[in-house]
Amino acid sequence: MSKIIVLMGAPGAGKGTQARLLQERRSLPQISTGDILRAKAQQQDSLAEEIRAIQASGKLASDDLVIRVVEERTAQDDCRNGYVLDGFPRTIPQAEMLERLAVEQGHDILAILIDMPYELLEKRATGRRSCPVCGEIYNIYFKPPRYDEVCDFHPNVKLEHRPDDTPDKIKVRLDTYNEQTRPLLDYYERTDRLRRVDGTKDKETIHKDITDLIDADGYTRRAEVVTSSHDYRQI
Ligand code: AMP
Repeated sequence: MSKIIVLMGAPGAGKGTQARLLQERRSLPQISTGDILRAKAQQQDSLAEEIRAIQASGKLASDDLVIRVVEERTAQDDCRNGYVLDGFPRTIPQAEMLERLAVEQGHDILAILIDMPYELLEKRATGRRSCPVCGEIYNIYFKPPRYDEVCDFHPNVKLEHRPDDTPDKIKVRLDTYNEQTRPLLDYYERTDRLRRVDGTKDKETIHKDITDLIDADGYTRRAEVVTSSHDYRQI
């Protein structure tokens, strides 16, 4: 069965980098609610104004808005064979909505936590820079661009530093994550749909760990189907 891969993890854990790799190498579209909201914030209307304010504060946008965004995006044709969610769900109502959507769309959900010690997260988030043209993600401490502040692939383009990647905003985002998003880990764990990878490894190793988990999940579920039908015959 096709899958919705939910990449979980605190801000700075590397969800965006890994979602991009899955998109490039597994043809699973990356659905980043943060990116979609940032694009909407560029428009000239009252909703854009609202999104800019909420993103700048480090707090969460309303469930209604984000749920609408995900419904619209995942209804597109490229999501038919599954997709990767990066930054969604972040609250219990969002997770509940995703259950309904998965049933309607005929997908299984697999949540993968990119686990990262708290001390590293702040540095990862404050050091993050990205190319506004190709979306390549750098980190001035861990993965600097070849030349200061410009993209390796677009030498004329200055890298962007997100306004919510400053130490005070990151503190709010980490607190928000702990209060509202962390409880979702229990939610997926209880239903045996949570897997973990070590987010301190290099990006290629993490990518391999993630794809191994995705592939193993397919086998486990097929084995479960065989076992349960076998048990049924015995009864
Ligand atoms: P991100 O790029 O995932 O770190 O998201 C940046 C900001 O967009 C967050 O701090 C929120 O303000 C907003 N946002 C992104 N995804 C969600 C979501 N699933 N629920 C609520 N707000 C979100």
